[in-house]
Amino acid sequence: MSSSPGNFIHDIIDADLASGKHTEVVTRFPPEPNGYLHIGHAKAICLDFGTALKYSGRCHLRFDDTNPTAEDTEYVEAIENDVRWLGFDWGKNLFWASDYFDRMYECAVELIKLGKAYVCDLSVDAFKEYRGVPNLPGKEPAGRKRSVEENLDLFERMKKGEFADGTYVLRAKIDMASPNLHMRDPAIYRIKHASHHNTGDKWCIYPMYDFAHCLEDSIEGVTHSLCTLEFEVHRPLYDWILETLGLYQPHQYEFARLNLTYTIMSKRKLLELVKEKLVNGWDDPRMPTICGMRRRGYTPEAIRAFCTEIGITKTESLTDVALLEHHVRNDLNEIAPRRMAVLDPLKVVITGYPEGQTEEFELPNHPNKPEMGVRTVPFSREIYIEREDFMEEPAKKFFRLAPGTEVRLRGAYLVTCTNVVKDAGGSITELHCSYDPASKGGNAPDGRKVKGTIHWVSAQHGIQAEVRLYDRLFTSENPAAEEGDFKDYLNPDSLKVITGIIEPGLAAAKAGEKFQFERIGYFCADLDTSAGKPVFNRTAGLRESSAKQA
Ligand code: ATP
Ligand code: MG
Repeated sequence: MSSSPGNFIHDIIDADLASGKHTEVVTRFPPEPNGYLHIGHAKAICLDFGTALKYSGRCHLRFDDTNPTAEDTEYVEAIENDVRWLGFDWGKNLFWASDYFDRMYECAVELIKLGKAYVCDLSVDAFKEYRGVPNLPGKEPAGRKRSVEENLDLFERMKKGEFADGTYVLRAKIDMASPNLHMRDPAIYRIKHASHHNTGDKWCIYPMYDFAHCLEDSIEGVTHSLCTLEFEVHRPLYDWILETLGLYQPHQYEFARLNLTYTIMSKRKLLELVKEKLVNGWDDPRMPTICGMRRRGYTPEAIRAFCTEIGITKTESLTDVALLEHHVRNDLNEIAPRRMAVLDPLKVVITGYPEGQTEEFELPNHPNKPEMGVRTVPFSREIYIEREDFMEEPAKKFFRLAPGTEVRLRGAYLVTCTNVVKDAGGSITELHCSYDPASKGGNAPDGRKVKGTIHWVSAQHGIQAEVRLYDRLFTSENPAAEEGDFKDYLNPDSLKVITGIIEPGLAAAKAGEKFQFERIGYFCADLDTSAGKPVFNRTAGLRESSAKQA
């Protein structure tokens, strides 16, 4: 696989390697297993793993499992699966923050002994009040004056489980007047009487994310710790902790997170959608999760190409989701075999065609990739065409079927509409067409010009399929920035389920198989598909929709 292209982080790495500051490159992707990965994580994964690949270094997959109440092994498996599916491999480098809990505890004790940490009994509210606001110094809590001995004793008793959740925290003793709130004696250990998926009931105190994170990077010898911009203000704390403890200090570099239009990118909000059943699970094809996109029919190649194109910068921005869809289309156009399916069927009777006769036509799987082969499609006297491919009173430049006009049925015959059959209410129920038996394969025998070509499915042979049509999950370009609840901006029409008629060969499609339904779009057999009841997801339209784009 190709590695990622250059960016400001790679310029720094080039300089570090040239100066001898580093001789190898070690990065890590550090998800917290409290939800499924989304397309924003894909950006981080492509950068972390792509950088390691580019410099023949290594990238650790490290689970930041410091909060036992939010985490679940279901998420762990899903994350591993998604990273692999995206095309990356951590080899033997799978790590867990929880593997370092003993070391982290020792580091906390060390800070206490250095007089750089203390046990504090402020309530959550008081904690916030004492911390104050950036332009005014905070207040020093009484605990700050506790002796080292007393702190050691209290911290040990916290560990032994003598105190209830929330009664005490261990805080780093830094500077209650710092303009950076993260430096105002942040909590580094808290009491949480909860079983951990890895360490069971061994601990009832757990390290806070900020304390744990820099230690994890240091312990693992990470050279370039890459994370999103919101952690820039945490960097002085990380540096303080490692420096105070005299530990190896990886350098952290921050880049802008990915934000996409018509999407939200917070695990907490995505979890809300799942829990409140506003979507059908984490892998609902409308979700911006990796597993949702996989189910929708997106390919890892398309997601990686998108991540390459957006690049790595330090400027926050909102990326048009149409760009992601563009890469999906680009990839599927190359690899998706062509098939015929009719989503809004209108019956056509080819009046001159012998009743009971069936012909098999050979159609190419790809218009300009003969190596993708051909398939046979049955043709008979009655077929379905797309209702919108007929106009009784054709508009200008409408080259499809209309009374008296001739069109090509893709790969079959030229037909001319001779009669329009309607019901009592005036709705069209079927069309009658004549056909030119000499036009077999869809070619005019005399070279006469037939502009329109439409797709079709034999009525006798076609198979009914459930087709799930997706639209954007939100009506707002930036739902997270809207006033009020982001869920107020859910698109009520984001899923439409219809019954289409597919060419018979498609009924055997296996879950995950991708196709272009000719003239309609890209579709993927859903996980729910079965030979008896085929189900397809619309992955993307053939071209960018005309709806307003950002
Ligand atoms: P969220 O903010 O969506 O809840 P998170 O940051 O809490 O996600 P983590 O599991 O902590 O999720 O993230 C793992 C890594 O992925 C972090 O290094 C984080 O910086 C990165 N990451 C998360 N969201 C994005 C994003 N939208 N764009 C780029 N990187 C991201
Ligand atoms: Mg996080």
